[in-house]
Amino acid sequence: MIEQHSDWEQRLSPGVNAVAPSGIRKFFDIAAQMEDVISLGVGEPDFVTPWSIRESCMYGLEQGYTSYTANRGMPELREEIVLHYARRFGNTYEAATDVLVTVGVSEALDIALRALLSPGDEVLIPEPCYVSYQACTILAGGVPVTVPARLDNEFRITPEELEEHVTEKTKVLLIGYPNNPTGAIMTREDLLKIAAFAEKHDLIIISDEIYGDLTYGDEEHVCFSSLPNMQERTVLLNGFSKAYAMTGWRIGYALGNKAIIAAMTKIHQYTMLCAPITAQVAAIEALRHGEKYMKKMVAEYDRRRRLIYDGLTKMGLSCFEPKGAFYIFPDITSSGYSSNDFAEKLLQAEHVALVPGSAFGACGEGHVRCSYATSIDKISEALNRIENFLKNHRR
Ligand code: PLP
Repeated sequence: MIEQHSDWEQRLSPGVNAVAPSGIRKFFDIAAQMEDVISLGVGEPDFVTPWSIRESCMYGLEQGYTSYTANRGMPELREEIVLHYARRFGNTYEAATDVLVTVGVSEALDIALRALLSPGDEVLIPEPCYVSYQACTILAGGVPVTVPARLDNEFRITPEELEEHVTEKTKVLLIGYPNNPTGAIMTREDLLKIAAFAEKHDLIIISDEIYGDLTYGDEEHVCFSSLPNMQERTVLLNGFSKAYAMTGWRIGYALGNKAIIAAMTKIHQYTMLCAPITAQVAAIEALRHGEKYMKKMVAEYDRRRRLIYDGLTKMGLSCFEPKGAFYIFPDITSSGYSSNDFAEKLLQAEHVALVPGSAFGACGEGHVRCSYATSIDKISEALNRIENFLKNHRR
Protein backbone atom coordinates (compact mmCIF):
# COMPACT_ATOMS: atom_id res chain seq x y z
CA MET A 1 0.00 0.00 0.00
CA ILE A 2 1.32 3.46 -0.94
CA GLU A 3 1.80 5.68 2.08
CA GLN A 4 -0.54 8.71 2.15
CA HIS A 5 0.92 12.03 3.21
CA SER A 6 -1.10 14.61 5.11
CA ASP A 7 1.75 17.08 5.50
CA TRP A 8 1.87 18.47 1.97
CA GLU A 9 2.15 22.08 3.10
CA GLN A 10 5.27 21.34 5.12
CA ARG A 11 6.77 19.58 2.13
CA LEU A 12 6.46 22.65 -0.12
CA SER A 13 9.39 24.99 -0.63
CA PRO A 14 9.82 27.51 2.21
CA GLY A 15 9.76 30.33 -0.35
CA VAL A 16 6.29 29.36 -1.55
CA ASN A 17 5.04 28.95 2.00
CA ALA A 18 6.38 32.42 2.87
CA VAL A 19 4.28 34.08 0.18
CA ALA A 20 0.54 34.78 0.62
CA PRO A 21 -1.87 34.49 -2.34
CA SER A 22 -2.46 37.83 -4.09
CA GLY A 23 -4.93 40.03 -2.20
CA ILE A 24 -6.27 41.38 -5.50
CA ARG A 25 -7.98 38.20 -6.57
CA LYS A 26 -9.80 37.36 -3.32
CA PHE A 27 -12.61 39.87 -3.89
CA PHE A 28 -13.12 38.85 -7.47
CA ASP A 29 -13.97 35.32 -6.57
CA ILE A 30 -16.70 36.68 -4.27
CA ALA A 31 -17.80 39.30 -6.83
CA ALA A 32 -18.03 36.66 -9.57
CA GLN A 33 -20.83 34.95 -7.59
CA MET A 34 -22.88 38.18 -7.32
CA GLU A 35 -25.08 39.87 -9.86
CA ASP A 36 -24.93 43.54 -10.79
CA VAL A 37 -21.40 44.09 -9.52
CA ILE A 38 -19.43 47.09 -10.80
CA SER A 39 -15.77 46.26 -10.69
CA LEU A 40 -13.17 48.94 -10.09
CA GLY A 41 -10.90 46.12 -9.12
CA VAL A 42 -8.76 44.44 -11.71
CA GLY A 43 -6.02 46.56 -13.31
CA GLU A 44 -7.00 45.78 -16.84
CA PRO A 45 -8.04 48.07 -19.71
CA ASP A 46 -11.70 47.68 -20.68
CA PHE A 47 -10.71 48.29 -24.32
CA VAL A 48 -10.20 45.48 -26.78
CA THR A 49 -6.75 45.51 -28.41
CA PRO A 50 -6.85 47.97 -31.36
CA TRP A 51 -7.99 46.35 -34.59
CA SER A 52 -4.79 46.80 -36.63
CA ILE A 53 -2.83 44.97 -33.93
CA ARG A 54 -5.31 42.08 -33.87
CA GLU A 55 -5.34 42.00 -37.66
CA SER A 56 -1.55 41.81 -37.89
CA CYS A 57 -1.64 38.72 -35.70
CA MET A 58 -4.31 37.08 -37.85
CA TYR A 59 -2.36 37.90 -40.99
CA GLY A 60 0.75 36.45 -39.37
CA LEU A 61 -1.11 33.22 -38.66
CA GLU A 62 -2.33 33.11 -42.23
CA GLN A 63 1.29 33.38 -43.36
CA GLY A 64 2.30 30.50 -41.11
CA TYR A 65 3.82 32.33 -38.14
CA THR A 66 3.25 29.46 -35.74
CA SER A 67 6.76 28.41 -34.70
CA TYR A 68 9.15 29.09 -31.84
CA THR A 69 11.22 32.25 -32.20
CA ALA A 70 14.75 33.03 -31.05
CA ASN A 71 14.92 32.77 -27.26
CA ARG A 72 15.52 36.50 -26.98
CA GLY A 73 12.54 37.28 -29.24
CA MET A 74 12.10 38.07 -32.94
CA PRO A 75 14.93 40.29 -34.20
CA GLU A 76 12.39 42.68 -35.82
CA LEU A 77 10.63 43.16 -32.50
CA ARG A 78 13.89 43.75 -30.64
CA GLU A 79 14.85 46.31 -33.29
CA GLU A 80 11.52 48.11 -32.84
CA ILE A 81 11.92 48.19 -29.07
CA VAL A 82 15.43 49.61 -29.33
CA LEU A 83 14.33 52.21 -31.91
CA HIS A 84 11.40 53.21 -29.72
CA TYR A 85 13.69 53.88 -26.74
CA ALA A 86 16.27 55.68 -28.88
CA ARG A 87 13.61 57.98 -30.36
CA ARG A 88 11.66 58.64 -27.22
CA PHE A 89 14.34 58.77 -24.51
CA GLY A 90 17.69 58.80 -26.32
CA ASN A 91 18.78 55.37 -25.02
CA THR A 92 21.50 53.45 -26.85
CA TYR A 93 20.52 49.81 -26.49
CA GLU A 94 21.72 47.09 -28.90
CA ALA A 95 18.99 44.84 -30.29
CA ALA A 96 21.30 41.81 -30.42
CA THR A 97 22.48 41.89 -26.81
CA ASP A 98 20.47 44.26 -24.61
CA VAL A 99 16.85 43.14 -25.12
CA LEU A 100 14.89 40.11 -23.98
CA VAL A 101 11.27 39.62 -25.03
CA THR A 102 9.33 37.95 -22.22
CA VAL A 103 5.94 36.56 -21.31
CA GLY A 104 4.66 39.82 -19.90
CA VAL A 105 6.45 42.10 -17.46
CA SER A 106 5.54 39.40 -14.93
CA GLU A 107 8.12 37.03 -16.35
CA ALA A 108 10.70 39.80 -16.85
CA LEU A 109 10.38 40.81 -13.18
CA ASP A 110 10.70 37.23 -11.96
CA ILE A 111 13.77 36.36 -14.00
CA ALA A 112 15.49 39.70 -13.39
CA LEU A 113 15.30 39.02 -9.65
CA ARG A 114 16.35 35.40 -10.06
CA ALA A 115 19.29 36.39 -12.26
CA LEU A 116 20.50 39.02 -9.79
CA LEU A 117 19.88 37.77 -6.26
CA SER A 118 21.94 35.48 -4.06
CA PRO A 119 20.25 34.10 -0.93
CA GLY A 120 19.87 36.87 1.62
CA ASP A 121 20.45 39.78 -0.77
CA GLU A 122 18.19 42.68 0.12
CA VAL A 123 15.89 44.49 -2.29
CA LEU A 124 14.65 47.98 -1.43
CA ILE A 125 10.98 48.26 -2.38
CA PRO A 126 9.05 51.51 -1.95
CA GLU A 127 5.52 50.72 -0.76
CA PRO A 128 2.58 50.73 -1.52
CA CYS A 129 3.57 48.77 -4.60
CA TYR A 130 2.48 46.18 -7.10
CA VAL A 131 1.69 42.88 -5.39
CA SER A 132 4.38 40.85 -7.18
CA TYR A 133 7.42 42.82 -6.05
CA GLN A 134 7.66 41.36 -2.57
CA ALA A 135 6.53 37.88 -3.60
CA CYS A 136 8.95 37.54 -6.54
CA THR A 137 11.82 38.79 -4.35
CA ILE A 138 11.10 36.09 -1.77
CA LEU A 139 10.70 33.41 -4.42
CA ALA A 140 14.10 34.42 -5.84
CA GLY A 141 15.70 33.91 -2.41
CA GLY A 142 16.01 37.62 -1.65
CA VAL A 143 14.80 39.69 1.26
CA PRO A 144 12.31 42.47 0.48
CA VAL A 145 12.95 45.63 2.50
CA THR A 146 9.99 47.96 2.62
CA VAL A 147 10.53 51.69 2.25
CA PRO A 148 7.26 53.47 3.06
CA ALA A 149 6.26 56.19 0.57
CA ARG A 150 4.33 59.01 2.18
CA LEU A 151 1.01 60.42 1.05
CA ASP A 152 2.14 63.92 2.08
CA ASN A 153 4.96 63.59 -0.45
CA GLU A 154 2.51 62.37 -3.11
CA PHE A 155 3.82 58.81 -2.67
CA ARG A 156 7.18 59.74 -4.20
CA ILE A 157 10.27 58.27 -2.66
CA THR A 158 13.31 60.25 -1.54
CA PRO A 159 16.98 59.26 -1.11
CA GLU A 160 16.74 60.18 2.57
CA GLU A 161 13.99 57.57 3.03
CA LEU A 162 16.00 54.99 1.10
CA GLU A 163 19.15 55.78 3.15
CA GLU A 164 17.29 54.71 6.30
CA HIS A 165 16.91 51.19 4.92
CA VAL A 166 20.07 50.53 2.95
CA THR A 167 22.53 47.99 4.40
CA GLU A 168 25.64 46.08 3.34
CA LYS A 169 23.33 43.45 1.90
CA THR A 170 21.30 45.76 -0.33
CA LYS A 171 21.76 44.80 -3.95
CA VAL A 172 18.71 46.02 -5.84
CA LEU A 173 16.31 48.94 -5.73
CA LEU A 174 12.97 47.98 -7.29
CA ILE A 175 10.80 50.90 -8.35
CA GLY A 176 7.56 51.16 -10.29
CA TYR A 177 6.49 54.60 -11.56
CA PRO A 178 3.86 55.57 -12.64
CA ASN A 179 2.79 53.60 -9.65
CA ASN A 180 0.29 50.84 -9.10
CA PRO A 181 -1.71 51.36 -6.81
CA THR A 182 -1.23 55.09 -6.04
CA GLY A 183 -1.02 56.70 -9.49
CA ALA A 184 2.10 58.57 -8.32
CA ILE A 185 4.88 59.57 -10.67
CA MET A 186 8.44 60.70 -10.10
CA THR A 187 9.78 63.90 -11.69
CA ARG A 188 13.18 64.10 -13.38
CA GLU A 189 14.56 65.91 -10.30
CA ASP A 190 13.24 63.18 -8.00
CA LEU A 191 14.78 60.47 -10.15
CA LEU A 192 18.14 62.21 -10.48
CA LYS A 193 18.41 62.09 -6.69
CA ILE A 194 17.55 58.39 -6.71
CA ALA A 195 20.17 57.84 -9.41
CA ALA A 196 22.83 59.52 -7.25
CA PHE A 197 21.76 57.31 -4.34
CA ALA A 198 22.06 54.18 -6.53
CA GLU A 199 25.56 55.20 -7.65
CA LYS A 200 26.66 55.97 -4.11
CA HIS A 201 25.65 52.48 -2.92
CA ASP A 202 26.47 50.74 -6.22
CA LEU A 203 22.92 49.33 -6.55
CA ILE A 204 21.20 47.77 -9.52
CA ILE A 205 17.83 49.35 -10.28
CA ILE A 206 14.93 47.35 -11.59
CA SER A 207 12.56 49.94 -13.03
CA ASP A 208 9.08 48.67 -13.89
CA GLU A 209 7.77 51.21 -16.39
CA ILE A 210 4.73 49.32 -17.61
CA TYR A 211 2.58 52.46 -17.07
CA GLY A 212 5.16 54.79 -18.65
CA ASP A 213 2.82 55.70 -21.52
CA LEU A 214 -0.06 56.44 -19.17
CA THR A 215 0.64 59.88 -17.75
CA TYR A 216 -1.71 62.85 -17.67
CA GLY A 217 -1.58 66.60 -18.03
CA ASP A 218 1.88 68.10 -18.41
CA GLU A 219 3.56 65.21 -16.67
CA GLU A 220 5.94 63.49 -19.11
CA HIS A 221 7.23 60.11 -18.09
CA VAL A 222 10.97 59.99 -17.39
CA CYS A 223 12.66 56.70 -18.24
CA PHE A 224 15.05 55.80 -15.44
CA SER A 225 17.69 54.27 -17.72
CA SER A 226 17.82 57.47 -19.82
CA LEU A 227 19.25 59.44 -16.89
CA PRO A 228 23.01 60.09 -17.05
CA ASN A 229 25.05 56.90 -16.35
CA MET A 230 21.94 54.88 -15.49
CA GLN A 231 21.52 52.68 -18.58
CA GLU A 232 24.30 50.33 -17.46
CA ARG A 233 22.98 49.71 -13.95
CA THR A 234 19.24 49.62 -14.76
CA VAL A 235 17.09 46.68 -15.76
CA LEU A 236 14.18 48.40 -17.46
CA LEU A 237 10.91 46.47 -17.69
CA ASN A 238 8.04 47.32 -19.99
CA GLY A 239 5.30 45.61 -21.93
CA PHE A 240 2.18 45.91 -23.99
CA SER A 241 -0.54 44.85 -21.51
CA LYS A 242 -1.63 48.26 -20.29
CA ALA A 243 -0.81 50.91 -22.91
CA TYR A 244 -1.99 48.80 -25.87
CA ALA A 245 -4.79 46.93 -24.05
CA MET A 246 -3.01 43.61 -24.60
CA THR A 247 -3.17 41.90 -21.20
CA GLY A 248 -4.19 38.53 -22.62
CA TRP A 249 -1.40 38.40 -25.19
CA ARG A 250 1.25 38.01 -22.48
CA ILE A 251 4.06 40.03 -23.95
CA GLY A 252 6.68 42.25 -22.33
CA TYR A 253 10.42 42.86 -22.38
CA ALA A 254 13.52 43.71 -20.40
CA LEU A 255 16.30 46.09 -21.45
CA GLY A 256 19.65 46.10 -19.72
CA ASN A 257 23.37 45.58 -19.98
CA LYS A 258 24.42 42.53 -21.95
CA ALA A 259 25.65 40.50 -18.97
CA ILE A 260 22.35 40.79 -17.11
CA ILE A 261 20.26 40.21 -20.22
CA ALA A 262 22.36 37.11 -21.07
CA ALA A 263 21.79 35.78 -17.55
CA MET A 264 18.04 36.41 -17.78
CA THR A 265 17.99 34.76 -21.22
CA LYS A 266 19.52 31.65 -19.69
CA ILE A 267 16.61 31.29 -17.25
CA HIS A 268 14.08 32.24 -19.93
CA GLN A 269 15.39 29.64 -22.41
CA TYR A 270 15.00 26.81 -19.91
CA THR A 271 11.64 27.90 -18.56
CA MET A 272 9.70 29.71 -21.31
CA LEU A 273 11.85 29.06 -24.36
CA CYS A 274 10.34 32.13 -26.02
CA ALA A 275 7.33 34.43 -25.84
CA PRO A 276 4.43 33.39 -28.12
CA ILE A 277 5.16 34.27 -31.75
CA THR A 278 1.57 35.45 -32.28
CA ALA A 279 1.99 38.07 -29.57
CA GLN A 280 5.41 39.10 -30.88
CA VAL A 281 4.00 39.74 -34.37
CA ALA A 282 1.23 41.83 -32.81
CA ALA A 283 3.73 43.73 -30.65
CA ILE A 284 5.72 44.75 -33.74
CA GLU A 285 2.56 46.28 -35.18
CA ALA A 286 1.80 48.00 -31.86
CA LEU A 287 5.20 49.72 -31.87
CA ARG A 288 5.11 50.57 -35.59
CA HIS A 289 1.56 51.89 -35.87
CA GLY A 290 -0.19 51.65 -32.51
CA GLU A 291 0.68 54.98 -30.93
CA LYS A 292 -2.38 56.84 -32.23
CA TYR A 293 -4.73 54.24 -30.74
CA MET A 294 -2.83 54.26 -27.49
CA LYS A 295 -3.08 58.06 -27.28
CA LYS A 296 -6.87 57.86 -27.72
CA MET A 297 -7.13 55.38 -24.87
CA VAL A 298 -4.94 57.58 -22.68
CA ALA A 299 -7.20 60.60 -23.40
CA GLU A 300 -10.20 58.53 -22.33
CA TYR A 301 -8.47 57.38 -19.13
CA ASP A 302 -7.76 61.02 -18.38
CA ARG A 303 -11.49 61.89 -18.67
CA ARG A 304 -12.32 59.04 -16.31
CA ARG A 305 -9.53 60.04 -13.93
CA ARG A 306 -10.98 63.53 -13.55
CA LEU A 307 -14.50 62.18 -13.01
CA ILE A 308 -13.48 59.72 -10.30
CA TYR A 309 -11.14 62.16 -8.58
CA ASP A 310 -13.87 64.85 -8.41
CA GLY A 311 -16.50 62.33 -7.33
CA LEU A 312 -14.50 60.79 -4.51
CA THR A 313 -13.24 64.15 -3.28
CA LYS A 314 -16.74 65.64 -3.26
CA MET A 315 -18.08 62.82 -1.09
CA GLY A 316 -15.38 63.62 1.47
CA LEU A 317 -12.78 60.94 0.75
CA SER A 318 -9.43 62.62 0.60
CA CYS A 319 -7.45 61.62 -2.45
CA PHE A 320 -4.09 62.19 -3.95
CA GLU A 321 -4.77 63.23 -7.56
CA PRO A 322 -3.23 60.45 -9.66
CA LYS A 323 -0.74 61.57 -12.32
CA GLY A 324 -0.26 58.25 -14.09
CA ALA A 325 -1.41 54.63 -14.53
CA PHE A 326 -5.20 54.11 -14.16
CA TYR A 327 -5.68 53.85 -10.41
CA ILE A 328 -6.82 56.17 -7.65
CA PHE A 329 -6.05 55.45 -4.01
CA PRO A 330 -8.50 57.30 -1.72
CA ASP A 331 -8.00 57.51 2.03
CA ILE A 332 -10.99 55.75 3.61
CA THR A 333 -10.06 56.13 7.29
CA SER A 334 -12.89 58.67 7.78
CA SER A 335 -15.34 55.79 7.18
CA GLY A 336 -14.15 54.11 10.38
CA TYR A 337 -13.36 50.85 8.57
CA SER A 338 -10.09 49.10 7.87
CA SER A 339 -9.37 48.90 4.16
CA ASN A 340 -10.27 45.21 4.09
CA ASP A 341 -13.61 45.75 5.90
CA PHE A 342 -14.40 48.72 3.70
CA ALA A 343 -13.90 46.65 0.54
CA GLU A 344 -15.85 43.70 1.93
CA LYS A 345 -18.81 45.74 3.24
CA LEU A 346 -19.01 47.89 0.11
CA LEU A 347 -19.15 44.77 -2.03
CA GLN A 348 -21.88 43.22 0.09
CA ALA A 349 -23.97 46.38 0.53
CA GLU A 350 -23.57 48.13 -2.84
CA HIS A 351 -22.01 45.57 -5.16
CA VAL A 352 -18.93 47.62 -5.98
CA ALA A 353 -15.64 45.70 -6.09
CA LEU A 354 -12.35 47.42 -5.35
CA VAL A 355 -9.10 46.35 -3.73
CA PRO A 356 -8.13 47.02 -0.10
CA GLY A 357 -4.95 49.09 0.10
CA SER A 358 -3.42 46.53 2.45
CA ALA A 359 -3.08 44.17 -0.55
CA PHE A 360 -0.22 46.46 -1.67
CA GLY A 361 1.67 46.23 1.61
CA ALA A 362 1.05 47.39 5.16
CA CYS A 363 1.63 51.00 4.03
CA GLY A 364 -1.53 50.76 1.93
CA GLU A 365 -3.76 50.31 5.00
CA GLY A 366 -6.36 53.07 5.29
CA HIS A 367 -6.75 53.26 1.51
CA VAL A 368 -8.53 51.36 -1.22
CA ARG A 369 -7.48 51.06 -4.85
CA CYS A 370 -10.04 51.90 -7.53
CA SER A 371 -9.17 51.23 -11.15
CA TYR A 372 -10.72 53.70 -13.59
CA ALA A 373 -10.02 51.51 -16.61
CA THR A 374 -13.76 51.09 -16.97
CA SER A 375 -16.53 53.08 -18.69
CA ILE A 376 -17.66 56.54 -17.62
CA ASP A 377 -21.19 55.17 -17.01
CA LYS A 378 -19.92 52.46 -14.72
CA ILE A 379 -17.65 54.87 -12.85
CA SER A 380 -20.59 57.30 -12.34
CA GLU A 381 -22.81 54.52 -11.03
CA ALA A 382 -20.01 53.19 -8.79
CA LEU A 383 -19.55 56.71 -7.37
CA ASN A 384 -23.29 56.90 -6.54
CA ARG A 385 -23.08 53.55 -4.81
CA ILE A 386 -19.96 54.47 -2.80
CA GLU A 387 -21.65 57.70 -1.70
CA ASN A 388 -24.69 55.72 -0.64
CA PHE A 389 -22.50 53.33 1.28
CA LEU A 390 -20.77 56.15 3.13
CA LYS A 391 -24.14 57.72 4.05
CA ASN A 392 -25.57 54.49 5.40
CA HIS A 393 -22.61 52.64 6.80
CA ARG A 394 -20.14 55.16 8.20
CA ARG A 395 -19.09 53.88 11.60
N1 PLP B 1 3.92 45.61 -13.23
C1 PLP B 1 2.90 46.32 -12.75
C2 PLP B 1 3.18 47.56 -11.95
C3 PLP B 1 1.59 45.91 -12.96
O1 PLP B 1 0.57 46.64 -12.47
C4 PLP B 1 1.35 44.72 -13.70
C5 PLP B 1 -0.04 44.23 -13.91
O2 PLP B 1 -0.98 44.65 -13.28
C6 PLP B 1 2.44 44.01 -14.17
C7 PLP B 1 3.71 44.48 -13.93
C8 PLP B 1 2.28 42.73 -14.96
O3 PLP B 1 2.11 43.02 -16.30
P1 PLP B 1 2.10 41.94 -17.48
O4 PLP B 1 0.69 41.80 -17.92
O5 PLP B 1 2.97 42.56 -18.55
O6 PLP B 1 2.68 40.68 -16.96
